[in-house]
Amino acid sequence: SDEDRALLAAEYDPEPVPPEKTLPVLAVVGRPNVGKSTLVNRVLGQRQAVVQDMPGVTRDRVRYPAEWAGRDFILLDTGGWEIGVDGLDEAVSRQAEASVDDADAIVFVVDAVVGATDTDMQVARMLQRCGKPVIVAANKVDSASQLPDVASLWSLGLGEPFPVSALHGRGSGDLLDRCLKILPERGSVSVPTGPQPGRVALVGRPNVGKSSLLNALLGEERVVVDAVAGTTRDPVDETVMIGQTPWRFVDTAGIRRKMHKSRGADFYASLRTSRAIEEADIAMVLLDASQPLSEQDQRIVSQAVEAGRGIVIVNNKWDLVDEDRQDELAREYERELAHVGWARRINISAKTTWHTNRIERALNETLDGWRTRIPTGRLNAFLGQLMAANPHPVRGGKQPRILFGTQVHACPPRFVLFTTGFLDPGYRRFIERRLREEYGFVGTPIQIGVRVRE
Ligand code: GDP
Ligand code: GDP
Repeated sequence: SDEDRALLAAEYDPEPVPPEKTLPVLAVVGRPNVGKSTLVNRVLGQRQAVVQDMPGVTRDRVRYPAEWAGRDFILLDTGGWEIGVDGLDEAVSRQAEASVDDADAIVFVVDAVVGATDTDMQVARMLQRCGKPVIVAANKVDSASQLPDVASLWSLGLGEPFPVSALHGRGSGDLLDRCLKILPERGSVSVPTGPQPGRVALVGRPNVGKSSLLNALLGEERVVVDAVAGTTRDPVDETVMIGQTPWRFVDTAGIRRKMHKSRGADFYASLRTSRAIEEADIAMVLLDASQPLSEQDQRIVSQAVEAGRGIVIVNNKWDLVDEDRQDELAREYERELAHVGWARRINISAKTTWHTNRIERALNETLDGWRTRIPTGRLNAFLGQLMAANPHPVRGGKQPRILFGTQVHACPPRFVLFTTGFLDPGYRRFIERRLREEYGFVGTPIQIGVRVRE
């Protein structure tokens, strides 16, 4: 009914965000393979601290708290761009444009050995017009003998290019000094200043035990939402301490309010489920292990995969599961849930709290997997070895090769491979399997796109 609709809308309408300490944001932009990840790691490594991910407003850009010469700022890593039909140039420019909107100053990384490419020129033209301070980092200048390469980068029209070797550290301190000079004291973009807790959607069909589990987890360690730095007050979510880590459970109001009896309840329940999944980093899918796996269970799992969320599968009501049911469950899994074989599965009883302490580890591993980003250099070394050991089978006298690959997204991981021909689905699955063996990617879907180059 309209009333239900209004109720739902009201609940999802967030309260105004309180003013936060605003740190200036320095964005790192540039083509793939110019050394952005290497540079970001070097800047973050300077302070020898554990790096905590701070997912930003959009998921394809990652913000890291950084510090140099006693000043705090946010480093915006723009590793992710979507390579669409328009190709690499457009994708890189669009991504650069988007990060410029979110930044107070920009480091434009160019490969000094390669020189300014057409893509670089296109990005440079955009940056000239953006009205924000820009520094050109002429990267891969590992020795003084390469300094003449740098001068040609004046052609970008963005002032003096700054020679640096992100790999060896040469010039990186000078580059940072220079960046701090152009970075304002306070940021124009409001960003949360503390690490953000991972967001969990606790989902599952009615009666699987969602509210029971929520209560078991809250126990006595319930914390007030706004006690966690950087979170905004939001009545529909709750922060739950699991072990030492705060997690933000989205739409706990929806778990608490039962709508079993009203008409259209199923529709609203599934609407809530999709919204909760959209809001979250991880979908914790609760199943009633004492009952056969239903179509609705499967639909929820598929929804989470399609939305690109991390997934943890929790078999609840294990206290009711006997040995026969265990065997049956194993068969159901093999038949119906093989496509999420990478997800952590845990058996618990919300009622007796048996094994609920295993949730912490499963969530942590899944969030790590979901956020993993592999630097272009490492990825290509991996792909090279993979192809040498297991080349693609010959098809119609041709043998497709991977020319270059790059991870265009984290959260969830998405790769684009540039190839000389279409890859067999079986070979793609093989690549995915090897990626998982090599880098973990626990609990996260992996997307692999292929672009055939003539
Ligand atoms: P991104 O795609 O822009 O993030 O690039 P990466 O940071 O993954 O670097 C791409 C490749 O360039 C890797 O093989 C790096 O080791 C290499 N690289 C990065 N910085 C330098 C540098 O200063 N000198 C040299 N010689 N190689 C570098
Ligand atoms: P929700 O609709 O998913 O929120 O499910 P509830 O938490 O309301 O649980 C539905 C029913 O299952 C209640 O009667 C719970 O007491 C029961 N239940 C929940 N967890 C367990 C469990 O681990 N074991 C058993 N035996 N019953 C449980």
